[in-house]
Amino acid sequence: MAPPQFEHSTAQWQALDAAHFLHPFTDFKALAAKGSRIITRADGIYLWDSDGHKIFDAMSGLWCVNVGYGQRPLIEAATHQLETLPFYNAFFQTATPPAIALAHKLSQLSPPGFEHVFYTSSGSEGNDTVVRMVRRYWDVLGQKSRKTIISRRNAYHGSTVAGASLGGMPDMHEQGDLPIPGIVHIDQPHYSEHAQPGESRDDFGRRAASWLEAKILEVGADKVAAFIGEPVQGAGGVIIPPDTYWPEIQRICDQYGILLVSDEVICGFGRTGYWFGCERFGTRPDLITFAKGVTSGYVPLGGVLVGERVARVLIDQGGDFNHGYTYSGHPVACAVALANLELIEQMGLVQRVRHETGPYLAQQYAKLLEHPLVGEAETCGLMGALKLVRRKATDTSPAEPFPSSVGAGMVCRGHCFANGLIMRAVGDRMIIAPPLVLTCEQIDEMMGLIRKCLDLTWTELTGV
Ligand code: PMP
Repeated sequence: MAPPQFEHSTAQWQALDAAHFLHPFTDFKALAAKGSRIITRADGIYLWDSDGHKIFDAMSGLWCVNVGYGQRPLIEAATHQLETLPFYNAFFQTATPPAIALAHKLSQLSPPGFEHVFYTSSGSEGNDTVVRMVRRYWDVLGQKSRKTIISRRNAYHGSTVAGASLGGMPDMHEQGDLPIPGIVHIDQPHYSEHAQPGESRDDFGRRAASWLEAKILEVGADKVAAFIGEPVQGAGGVIIPPDTYWPEIQRICDQYGILLVSDEVICGFGRTGYWFGCERFGTRPDLITFAKGVTSGYVPLGGVLVGERVARVLIDQGGDFNHGYTYSGHPVACAVALANLELIEQMGLVQRVRHETGPYLAQQYAKLLEHPLVGEAETCGLMGALKLVRRKATDTSPAEPFPSSVGAGMVCRGHCFANGLIMRAVGDRMIIAPPLVLTCEQIDEMMGLIRKCLDLTWTELTGV
C-alpha cells in the first residue's frame, strides 16, 4: 500500500512538481509548462507511469539499474541494514561491517593491484576525490608542480565544480567559469567526427591517442598529474574508441609517468561484458571511479578504487588525507552494493553480456543500418548508439546530417516516449544502455519498438 501522501492524480503530481521541484539539467520553465511524466513503479526492465502506461527502460534508469528493478536480495539487504544500523560514519576511527565487507569484495572483483577503496555517494564526488587524490599523491612524492589533469572534450565526469571541469561539455563550462585551473582537454576519439578521409579505425585510434602526448609536451611533462577518460564515453553519446586507442594511451601515460584514471561510473560492473571497461580495452589504470551499477542505483553510492601505486604512497608516506563525506561508506548503501554484486555474480550477468546478449545486440544493431534514417549503429556490451542522418554516406560523399534546427534526436525521443520505450537522445545520436538482466527475447522486443520509432521519426522528418 502506498502511503497516503503518494496518492495523487497525474495532474496533481504535475502541479506540485512544477511548483516545487527544480529538475537536474532541465529548463525549469519549459518543463513546468509541459508537465513531467510521473514514474510510479517498476519491475524487471519495465517502468509504469502514473497513467498506467508500461515503458521499456532501455536506459537502466540513468545507466545504473544493472540487475533490473524489484530484486529481492537488494531490498532485503537494505531493510536488514536499516533495522540494524541505518547510519554510522567512518570519520571517528570507526567502520561498519558493510563498508568493510564491500571494500573486501571490491578488491576481489577489481583488476589485479586494486586493494583499496575510498567511498563517496556519487560519481561526481568520486571524480572530485580523484582530483584531490592525484594532487595529494604528487605532493607527497615532492613533485608539487604536477597538478594538471588532462581530460577530453565531450567527456562527462559529473556536475560538481571539479567534475564539470574534468568533463568536456561546453554548455556546462559556460555556466560558472569552468573549467577550474589545472584541467585541460584534448579531442575525443570519435571516428566519424575526427577521422581523415580514408583513415582506418586503427590508424585513427593511434592518432587520437597521440593528442595526449602533444598535450603533455605543451603543458610540460613535469606539470602533468594524470589523464582521465571513460573507456566508452557514455553521456557524450556512447562514443566507442577504436581498439588501438587505449593501449596507446597507456603507453604514453607509462612513458611520461603520469597517472591513468579510468572513469567507470557507466562502464563498471558488467556494462561492457567485463567487470570493468579497462579490462575490455586493455589498460591498467591507477585509479578507477565508480558509482551507478555498484548498487544498481537502488541507493546512492560511488567511490574510487585505488591501485597500489597510489595507495602505497598515501598509506605509507601520506599522513592525514583531508578529504571525505558524511556518507563515505554509508552502511545501507554498502549492504545493498554487496547484495547487488553477489547477485550479478550468481546470475552470471557479466559473462552473459560478453558471450550472449552483447553479441546478439551487436548483430541486431548491425541490421538497423538498412533503415534509411540510420547512418551509424554501434554497440559495446550492452550499450548502443544510432546516428540519425538525412542521407547515408556513400563511397564518394560523407553522410548528410539533419540541420540542427530540426532536432532529429528529440523528434525520435518523443516517438519513443509515446510508444513505451526509453531511449536517450544526445544530439542526433540515439543511445541505449539496458539492464544487464535483459534476455535475447527482450532484445527482440526492444528492436521492434526501436524500428517502429525510427519509422515514425523518418515519416515525420521527411514526409515519406
Ligand atoms: N562519470 C561518468 C562517466 C558518468 O557517466 C557520470 C554520470 N552520468 C558521472 C561521472 C557523474 O555521476 P553522478 O551523476 O553520480 O554524480
